Amino acid sequence: MTDRIVRSLFLLLLITALLFLSAGCGGQTYEETTFFAMDTPVTLRYGTSGGTDAARTASKNAGTLLKEWESLCSAHDPDSALTVLNETGSLTTPDERLAGLIEEAVRVSGITNGAFDPTLGPLIRVWNISGGGPVPGEDAISEALAHTGCSLIRLTDGEIRLADPSASLDLGAIAKGAAADALAEAAADDGVPYGLVSFGSSMTVFGEKPDGSPYKIGIRDPDDPASVLGYITLTEGSLSVSGDYERYFEEDGVRYHHILDPGTGTPARSGLRSVAVLSPSGADADALSTALFVLGADQVPNLYNDPSLSFEAVLVTGDRRVILTNGLDPARFTLANSDYSVETLPLLELCFPQEP
Ligand code: ADP
Ligand code: MG
Repeated sequence: MTDRIVRSLFLLLLITALLFLSAGCGGQTYEETTFFAMDTPVTLRYGTSGGTDAARTASKNAGTLLKEWESLCSAHDPDSALTVLNETGSLTTPDERLAGLIEEAVRVSGITNGAFDPTLGPLIRVWNISGGGPVPGEDAISEALAHTGCSLIRLTDGEIRLADPSASLDLGAIAKGAAADALAEAAADDGVPYGLVSFGSSMTVFGEKPDGSPYKIGIRDPDDPASVLGYITLTEGSLSVSGDYERYFEEDGVRYHHILDPGTGTPARSGLRSVAVLSPSGADADALSTALFVLGADQVPNLYNDPSLSFEAVLVTGDRRVILTNGLDPARFTLANSDYSVETLPLLELCFPQEP
């Protein structure tokens, strides 16, 4: 087998090791299709309660849509719009999906104080996590970081520009969530009554199942990603997971994973092993799961109270605690591994002025 095939199989195994979908369909019927796109297997499960025509049409259309999203956002495709932007420093009249996604990426980056940063291309290259390293030197990390930061992105009427010739965008932590939403919306437009689009680490559900039941999503045990530590229910919107067990290499017994802390230039070590974010927006769920992973549990209340974001989260810590955000009904999470305990994130204490 060539290196490329071995790498693809390896990636397939790793990336699918993120979310289990509940096999129990409760009497619902589905048309299921799988693609390989955006570097990961994509599973479509489209409801067929009114007949199979809409689901089949939508599944076929999904193949075309996936190619479009790849040709917009792929950092590996030498002909993608993103690669053209990275290589030439500008895109005139960009596709509005790409422009909108970059705009949202810049917004979330600002709100998360740069913990999610779509300009990490140079840093991702020096780490070469998917290629197995090696650990870069401090000089290479500093040099890469010198060409990052959202202030380098200029979005003006009908044009995207990068203000530094060495800057390079990587949308790997937001594009799959956005594409999941786009496919779900297209399927609903095609008349699919209910269903789910999964990119492994990011999924969107839409419509209402005939029996009204939620989807039951397994959260992997970071210590044993082949098993689940618990289940979360989802009836609408998106869910994304970021974990240190997804893509990594090991050197001298240390794991170097793919979620980089833009503050240090190294894989984030915040005490979290994985973060699942639920949000009405797939792009936000995807970007925020990365951001919360970088920030750590202590910083989550600040973001949670930010009115410009809408999300709930399940945080899994290195000391085997599962922390739920306050708005997440604890009844929606079922623990499946008694080595873990469940708790709710403490609310930030708000200080009100005292009456004299
Ligand atoms: P997955 O790709 O498995 O869904 P994430 O959504 O957390 O995982 O995205 C991680 C990917 O995003 C990395 O492989 C890299 O391409 C990029 N990335 C790594 N760290 C960051 C970061 N702090 N901000 C934005 N993108 C990042
Ligand atoms: Mg993701």
